[in-house]
Amino acid sequence: MPQAATLAYTQPAYSAAVEKTLGRKPQLFINGEWVDSSHGALLDVEDPSTGKVISQIVDASEKDVDRAVAAARIAFDDGRWSSLPALQREKTMIRLAELIEANADELAELEAIDNGKPKSIAGAVDVPGAANQIRFMAGWAGKLAGETPTPYGLPQGATFAYTLREPVGVCAQIVPWNFPLLMACQKIAPALAAGCTLILKPAEQTSLTALRLADLVAEAGFPAGVINIITGLGETAGDRMVRHPDVDKVAFTGSTDVGKLIGRNATDTMKRITLELGGKSPVIVMPDVDITQASQGAASAIFFNSGQVCVAGSRLYAHRSIYDRLLEGLAEATPRWVPRPALDPAAQMGPLVSSEQYDRVMGYIEAGKRDGASVVIGGDSPSNDGYYVNPTVLADVNPQMSVVREEIFGPVVVAQRFDDLDEVAKAANDTCYGLGAGVWTRDISVMHKLVSKIKSGTVWGNCHTVVDPALPFGGYKQSGIGREQGRQGIEPYLETKTVFIQL
Ligand code: NAD
Repeated sequence: MPQAATLAYTQPAYSAAVEKTLGRKPQLFINGEWVDSSHGALLDVEDPSTGKVISQIVDASEKDVDRAVAAARIAFDDGRWSSLPALQREKTMIRLAELIEANADELAELEAIDNGKPKSIAGAVDVPGAANQIRFMAGWAGKLAGETPTPYGLPQGATFAYTLREPVGVCAQIVPWNFPLLMACQKIAPALAAGCTLILKPAEQTSLTALRLADLVAEAGFPAGVINIITGLGETAGDRMVRHPDVDKVAFTGSTDVGKLIGRNATDTMKRITLELGGKSPVIVMPDVDITQASQGAASAIFFNSGQVCVAGSRLYAHRSIYDRLLEGLAEATPRWVPRPALDPAAQMGPLVSSEQYDRVMGYIEAGKRDGASVVIGGDSPSNDGYYVNPTVLADVNPQMSVVREEIFGPVVVAQRFDDLDEVAKAANDTCYGLGAGVWTRDISVMHKLVSKIKSGTVWGNCHTVVDPALPFGGYKQSGIGREQGRQGIEPYLETKTVFIQL
């Protein structure tokens, strides 16, 4: 592992396009226009690669939220979006995807300096992923349909019965800071395809790409009020969105604690809710694997995006017969993941998003050590500037330790041994979460046995963190309610109306 003194932690200069965006007046995008906040409060924007303040955004007031909800309500109720031909809605969404692609380089750089992820990763994963979310869902706009079931208890031919699918209404959409643009587009895409209007709030730590998205929304030609994008704190602006009586649906991605709170608050007015929450995903490695491949897979399962991934493979279970060799392989795979500034072209992993997140992750590592875990790799920070944490592997852990039970959301994996399938399936399921799981084996029978035993929304075989807009994503247990993406992803944005007509 390179030592701190050998690495340069200098963030390369920002591009002119990004400097221009950073210098803009902090405003909110409401009813198709950039508007000032009612109270002028601002939040600092930090570059996590340096810890320096680089811009400011609006901290929206309750009045600002009310204004955005009113715009979305009017735009929904007068049908300016939902009553358009589906073809036109689809075309407008596709235009937005094209504009994202046309501005990909700037968006990737903005994401990198706001979140800390390497620009190369944002350019390869986040930005194309965001455009694809919109492209995929745009296709559903023209393919939604009700049914004509034959009534069961009524005389044939006496009644004509059918169902209609209608947009659910005004949606409040709240996203976290780990994949800001991608999550924003994952949220807005099904709402738009269904004919809903929306208010989107990015996380206060990472709002830059959502604000830039608002420019592209205006350029794409969405009617005013269909997409409103506001920035601000979760406890104030986010809370107001969740409780607002004119909001019909809340879609939230974030921590399980906040998700529970939002679920309770939204239920007061019976809003529809979908929640995509935390995880503590197991990675199970059987003895028949190619050790080099499995070690590299286990490393990227936890170190990708600095471990700030809801499905990060943060609990590694290796069969006793290969445990030592797998840990050696992990050590060999780790130098690739040494953190670097987000604009460094060599970076595979950047800093954590904020000083709070840095303290949280280092706090967990210290707690693990106090509880008796041993640090096999990393466990420290390579620089005093920015929020860098070295890739970390902890061993000699037990299931009661906080590092094993709780979501750390950093580049920290706990390694454990197992002897047989039932034992490892039980251990993998010994968590309140159920978001993702990885299984590494060449034995197809073992693979299927584990797939059926593991309680989780996604199981990966010989890979990890693969997602696709056509495949549903979501959690079992306390990892959430509902699914995003795929056919299932549009369902929460639709109501079903049953019609009986006496003939
Ligand atoms: P967080 O819950 O702190 O914040 C997420 C969002 O909720 C932010 O926009 C925040 O402003 C807002 N918020 C906070 N308090 C609120 C309140 N009382 N009312 C309304 N809104 C409020 O989460 P985070 O730290 O930004 O993100 C990390 C978490 O997100 C992790 O737990 C991770 O597992 C989870 N996550 C889950 C998925 C998934 O698809 N399941 C994806 C990414 C992240």
